[in-house]
Amino acid sequence: MAERSELIRSVKGTRDLLPPETRLWQRVEDEARRVFAAYHFQEIRTPVLEQTSLFARSVGADTDIVSKEMYTFQDRDNEMLTLRPEATASVVRAYIEHSIYNQGGVHKLYYMGPMFRRERPQKGRYRQFYQIGAEVLGSDHPLIDVETLEMLVLFLERVGLREYNLLLNSVGCTHCRPEYVKALRRALEGVKASMCDDCQRRAETNPLRVLDCKVEADQPMIDKLPRIIDYLDPECKQHFERVKAELIQREIPYQITPRLVRGLDYYTRTTFEITSGALGAQNAVLGGGRYDGLAEMIGGPPTPGFGFAIGQDRLVLAVQQAGELGTGDALDAYIAWLGEAAFAPAQKLARELRREGFSIEISPEPMKLKKSMGIANKLQARFAIIIGEGELKGGRYQVKDMASGNQQEVGPSQIGAILRQKLRYLSAPAAVCTDSDE
Ligand code: AMP
Repeated sequence: MAERSELIRSVKGTRDLLPPETRLWQRVEDEARRVFAAYHFQEIRTPVLEQTSLFARSVGADTDIVSKEMYTFQDRDNEMLTLRPEATASVVRAYIEHSIYNQGGVHKLYYMGPMFRRERPQKGRYRQFYQIGAEVLGSDHPLIDVETLEMLVLFLERVGLREYNLLLNSVGCTHCRPEYVKALRRALEGVKASMCDDCQRRAETNPLRVLDCKVEADQPMIDKLPRIIDYLDPECKQHFERVKAELIQREIPYQITPRLVRGLDYYTRTTFEITSGALGAQNAVLGGGRYDGLAEMIGGPPTPGFGFAIGQDRLVLAVQQAGELGTGDALDAYIAWLGEAAFAPAQKLARELRREGFSIEISPEPMKLKKSMGIANKLQARFAIIIGEGELKGGRYQVKDMASGNQQEVGPSQIGAILRQKLRYLSAPAAVCTDSDE
């Protein structure tokens, strides 16, 4: 026998998502697809690999993401490639590359998938994490912002996240922001020497990024810096006022957060974040905003845009902690067959029920009834279907409700109908299960 080698483990900051938790991930994704479709969003799938310059130009060379966190490598033909740290830039690239703008009108796209950032791993922060995001391209109307936020609120309600804060800000535009940045630079002159090294550098290169600083000692100084909402030009101000008024109209509470500039260079006007108290230090569940200049940064025609990215890892964690998602799905039925004569009819029944969409488990080996029931219990089967000698003779199988212990004899062709009827009355396992058409 070969000597046992050292165990190869997953890469630091990455993790395996295992059942039954993967079922929760699927539910979140299913609900996102349903809610997004109701708002007429369509799915886009872009590559995980992109040219490095895509992110350097859009997210910004001075941001933490680009300067410290990207997984970048030189390909064999010397091209610089990056594992995407976010997907907005990719969606906008695809929109430009495929000339989707030529079709005119507004395009609403959503995506889900892994993103990569080399951050210090901790609970809720990973180097491979997952985002569910959406982008609206082709309109700068404030109602786009509001409608997208309304969709997010509905989605969070559907997945059962009820306790959260919507933080809101406006970061102005290329007209009014330079004035603000000037004021920021002036204010930083007085304090930057006492700030962290990163802030000292940012104060020179990209002062707005100082507002993203997480260093504890810098916070009191940052809190005293000028606020961008006091520098908005009349158009940006009007846009922001309309967003706020419409949110109030829709009874969506928000909290104005003047420091919220969201760590990426491409944002304009509305920025927002949703935080959840259930999450501890990494409390941002999702974030987003408007990015009216992004398309031009990467070589496209002027295309206003608005979008968000939900951190799926954190969302699942938050709804789990709120106790809303339950555990994985229980098995609909376990088929217990006793004796070789029952093998073929039991397999046939399993095949038929599975074709009808039930979740069924069956042993490949004959087993004693007691052992079969033990397995049915362990698998949390809602029903056990027992096929023994007596049942074969009588042409009716036992259908046992595992919770109550009640048992009834049912003809094989009727079992599907009986299961469907009974399962309908069992409580749905999760708040996100809103299919009520069955
Ligand atoms: P961002 O793309 O930075 O705007 O982030 C959007 C959301 O993605 C955040 O609110 C987080 O929920 C999530 N997120 C960002 N970075 C990570 C990470 N390293 N690990 C887990 N989730 C993350």
